Amino acid sequence: MVLLLSALGGCSLPIYSEAKLEKESELQFDQLRTATPVSNDVLVNRYVNCIADAIIATLPASYANREWEVVVFDSPQVNAFAMPGGHIGVFTGILNVAENQDQLAAVIGHEVAHVTEHHALERVNREATTQLGVVGASVALGGGQGTADLLQMGAMLGLSLPYGRKQESEADAVGLMYMADAGFDPRQSVQLWTNMEKTGNSQPAQFMSTHPSPDSRQLDLIGLWVEALPRYNAAREAGKQPNCRP
Ligand SMILES: [Zn+2]
Repeated sequence: MVLLLSALGGCSLPIYSEAKLEKESELQFDQLRTATPVSNDVLVNRYVNCIADAIIATLPASYANREWEVVVFDSPQVNAFAMPGGHIGVFTGILNVAENQDQLAAVIGHEVAHVTEHHALERVNREATTQLGVVGASVALGGGQGTADLLQMGAMLGLSLPYGRKQESEADAVGLMYMADAGFDPRQSVQLWTNMEKTGNSQPAQFMSTHPSPDSRQLDLIGLWVEALPRYNAAREAGKQPNCRP
């Protein structure tokens, strides 16, 4: 077994493929939709979709051309997420924290950036190789029960484990450019995170627990305005002036 593990550690073959993760994400998303009430408030759905559509249109072609599913969950949870394969979930609780379309665009841009930067895949493969090498070895040897376990674990990790700090910073930076390119004011991202931190002090904000806050988050975002603001201005001049209302 030691030999197997070291062989596994030494090869660069990912245990988990993007395709597998997308398939599992699909199942996970369906389960969540079954277990959690979905908002049928037409105005709220229109508002969230208006913002998500504008962000999606700015993504690299392989993501922009995919069919995304956007679901608003009727739940006080302060939470939102995006999953590989093209799923976006927004809980109505986060609408009390994201005060306007630009702040919600910051949330969605950040979440979608986790998908386009393959963060869930990185996380799942790292977890699988380091902590579950035994299961991984079984998969490398051709599947069986280990495969099912690992797939299940991957799905679990896809939603519930926090991203790393480096991934958070990357999603902040990439997401900021997505929102700017879509014509949302990137300066609002800083206010969003300030609101989020305040909320975390008074009520459980699930979003904060899966999104460890780099201490320098707001300062880092401000540092990126020099790149984001010209992109925002260019987008506005090109006619991208989203007007999404709750
Ligand atoms: Zn994040």
